[in-house]
Amino acid sequence: MNNSKIGWIGLGKMGIPMSGQLLKAGFSITVFNRSKEKEQDLKALGAGIADTPADLIQQTDLIIIMVSDDKAIDAIFKGDQGILSAGAINKIIINMSTVSPAISREIADLCKKQGNYYLDAPVSGSVKQAEEGQLVIMVGGDDEIFHNAKPVLEKLGKLTLRVGENGAGNTAKLAVNTLLAFHAQGLAEAIVFANKNGISTDDLLTIVNNSALGNVFGKIKGEAIMNDNYQPAFALKHIAKDLRLAKAEGLDTPLGKTVFQTFQEAESAFGEQDIISVIKQIR
Ligand code: NAP
Repeated sequence: MNNSKIGWIGLGKMGIPMSGQLLKAGFSITVFNRSKEKEQDLKALGAGIADTPADLIQQTDLIIIMVSDDKAIDAIFKGDQGILSAGAINKIIINMSTVSPAISREIADLCKKQGNYYLDAPVSGSVKQAEEGQLVIMVGGDDEIFHNAKPVLEKLGKLTLRVGENGAGNTAKLAVNTLLAFHAQGLAEAIVFANKNGISTDDLLTIVNNSALGNVFGKIKGEAIMNDNYQPAFALKHIAKDLRLAKAEGLDTPLGKTVFQTFQEAESAFGEQDIISVIKQIR
């Protein structure tokens, strides 16, 4: 895989540092992004540019996709100039976006019929982990294809684990993001409760961060709340989407129902801000 020509689709908050990481590792990369202006930074670092997803797959051996949601995946595969329109064969296509297990299974079947291979490989971690190649990657798909692709994925993540057949990576990711929503809402509620009763945010965070409950998420998001900085590292609209996907897969536990409702309600006001802006909704 080290000599493979890599194609990259999706240059958003995650796609830019992740593709940059592969460039740094010495891979030859060609990129495509719907909004063409975002391709220029990667071009300056040495990446090639493809006009369409169909052109990209013709020029490369292994294609990685990091876009928003099921709708974007539909457009990239099934659009007029989409991947499936190219009639390419023997390509490995890795979808690292957080999407539904159902769309991964559907697209995997379509790829297989053409003689291509699909892995779902969503990630845990955010922009900082993407910049440092420290993501956690959960993979669904054929074991042999996974082993072929693993050396490339290992440049992006500190852990790359296959959890089952196509769609299983997406299911694992929905479970992880359900827990993420619990953490975000839990931290927000503890701060709101403490503040209401005269305890400062600073003091509460100092206590939590020094206790057994301290964790990286609480530290980073606690600082964001202290600085009133809700610039999105992980936009709230994405967790609202993930909880809709989890609900469609059967999430109906007590906390699951609660976070689903909270984040759907918060989305219209705070969707473009960071996940931790849920504290403003709770306040
Ligand atoms: P983002 O900054 O919003 O970027 C989204 C990307 O998807 C952009 O390249 C966008 O193209 C493309 N896109 C959206 N709709 C499209 C369509 N219909 N056709 C073609 N391209 C389309 O998102 P992100 O934060 O990088 O997240 C990407 C994925 O990773 C999401 O599934 C998210 O849930 C997941 N994720 C994010 C984080 C995080 O912390 N940000 C962490 C883990 C997982 P344009 O530039 O043209 O809009």
